[in-house]
Formats: sequence, structure tokens, C-alpha cells
Amino acid sequence: MALNRPLILVLLVLAATLAYFLRGDAREQQVRQSRILMGTVVEINVLDQDARRAQAAVEAAFAEMARIEELMSVQRPDSEVARLGRAEQSLAVSTETAEVLALGLEIARRSAGAFDPSLGRLKALWDLEGDAPRIPEQAAIAAALEGIGPQALRLEGLRVYKAHPELVVDLGGIAKGYAVDRAVAVLEQAGIASASVNAGGDLRLLGGRGERPWRIGIQHPREAGEVLTILELSDRAVVTSGDYERYFEQDGRRYHHIFDPRTGFPADAVQSVTLVADSAMLADALATAVFVLGPRQGLDLVGEFPGVEVLIVDAAGALHASAGMAELQR
Ligand code: AMP
Ligand code: MG
Repeated sequence: MALNRPLILVLLVLAATLAYFLRGDAREQQVRQSRILMGTVVEINVLDQDARRAQAAVEAAFAEMARIEELMSVQRPDSEVARLGRAEQSLAVSTETAEVLALGLEIARRSAGAFDPSLGRLKALWDLEGDAPRIPEQAAIAAALEGIGPQALRLEGLRVYKAHPELVVDLGGIAKGYAVDRAVAVLEQAGIASASVNAGGDLRLLGGRGERPWRIGIQHPREAGEVLTILELSDRAVVTSGDYERYFEQDGRRYHHIFDPRTGFPADAVQSVTLVADSAMLADALATAVFVLGPRQGLDLVGEFPGVEVLIVDAAGALHASAGMAELQR
């Protein structure tokens, strides 16, 4: 008996559709690329069935981060932040720089100046990026701290006013987080549903890793290459500030890159702070602030931000965590 030809056609189409979906599922592509940006290694990892779309999205995300670096890096003499440092009184800036500065100034106020985007002169004085960093003279430290603080910068619309011509702005404690947020926004606009962007410990996740959450290992502050804990998360930012990232040692003491604006010396109450929040910019600023404040005041500050969790390793290596942190740990 001859088979009904339309029926055969329908069966063939069904089989082809099934094969396509099965194969499509198995063909979830991973595009993973690293570049040096903002003084660190940035890795973008995208999962998508369309490799070309994923590749184009990764390119666009890197380009966006490079654009933010050009606006906000103090290392670039033409950046808005560098020009702001040289300005006598005020400078009109882009909406991007204004947005970052607005949050930076809010965290400066709410942390009683532990976070301080006006400490650019102090940072330059310590010169940790230089070839032979050393402890500055006490008089130079005192001069670099003069007039800094949460009131030293004021934002009116897109214009930034400096309280003193000598003030130098530094967004190093917050701009990387913003760049990571922007990269994730660009990936999302490109139709990507699953990705991670990691700028040297400032990390944000888009969606889950396929159907499951991402598993994020948090670097142990004293055991190189060891994880302190593993967090399972989707759609959130995880940012770690540590005293092991940029430092030099002298007479058995470690001098690193997060400064206590009250003393002008590296903050010494903790070894690392890991912050979980929806935005990498907020997590970045808070991680730096908590690093300076130490465990007790740090936990109080984080408690003011709903949905934000923190894990602190104090100077003695003891752990302090906010109430919701345990639920994220595996
Ligand atoms: P992070 O790695 O995010 O903790 O940021 C460290 C960077 O933030 C340093 O390299 C400085 O550029 C800047 N920074 C250092 N100390 C402070 C502070 N107390 N408040 C704001 N930014 C800071
Ligand atoms: Mg930070």
C-alpha cells in the first residue's frame, strides 16, 4: 500500500523540527573573551545559541566599557575626571560621569566620608602604580587630606563644583562597577539572556547559567588561588574589595590601595569585603566604604540598603556576614 504523501511530508517536517530544537539546545554556544581595561583584566562570558550574535554583543560590551574608561580614568589626561582635577572651580560633565559621581557622593555622605571620591591627591601621593612605591612623608599626607570630604564636591545638574581648586577627583572605587553595569545593559539590549562580566573582581551576572544559577568563587584574601566561599546567584552583582589586589610591603606591614580618609593610610580593619547587590556600581562603592569602616559600622551601613548582602573577612581572618548571605553560599 502506498503511504499517503501529505502524511509523509507532515511527519518529515515534524522530525526536522524536533531535530532542529534538540540540536539547537545542544548547540548553546559560549563566547568568552578577556581584555585589559580600567587597569585590570575584564572577562565577558556569553551563552547564546547564535554565536555571531554573542560575538557582536561581546564586542559592543567591551566598546562601552572602553568608552566609560575614557570618561572616568584618572590615568587618562583627557578624561572628564582628570580635567575635573585640573579645573579651578567647576566643570560640566557627561550624564554618565554625573551619575557615577552622584552615587559616589551619596555613599560618601552615608558612610561619613569613609568612601571619598575627593581623595585623588592622596591616591597620587601613594603612587601604588609606580615602580617603587613607598610611604609618603607625614606632612605630604596632611596636605593631601586638606579640604577633602563628602562636602568637598557638589553636583548641580551636570556641573561639578569643587570646594577648592586643588581637589583631585578619583572614581577608582566606583567607576569599574558602573562600567560593568553598562556592559551588562549593552548585552541585554543585544538580546543576550545569559552572561557574566567580570572586571577583576567586580562582577555582574545577566540571567542564570542557562537554567541554573551561576556559581561564583570568592577569592580567599590570604590563600592565593583558594576560594573563601562559593555563591550561587543569578541576575546580581558581586564585588570584592581586598587588600591583596595592589600593595607593597615594608617592615612586615602591607600598604595597599584602599585608604582611610581620616588617616591618609591604607585602611587596616579588614582583609576583604564581598558585596552582593543588584547594581555593580552600588556594590563597588559599598565594598570600598565597608572596607574602610570595618565590620561593625560596615554591617550597619549595608543594613540601610534593602536586598544588599555583605561578607567581611576582618584583619584577624574572622568572618562577619549580613543575615541573608548564608542563603547564597554553597
Ligand atoms: P576598590 O578596589 O573598588 O575597593 O577601589 C579601590 C580604589 O578606589 C583605589 O585604587 C582608589 O582609586 C580608590 N579609593 C581608595 N580609597 C578610597 C576611599 N576611601 N574612598 C573612595 N575611593 C577610594
Ligand atoms: Mg569599590
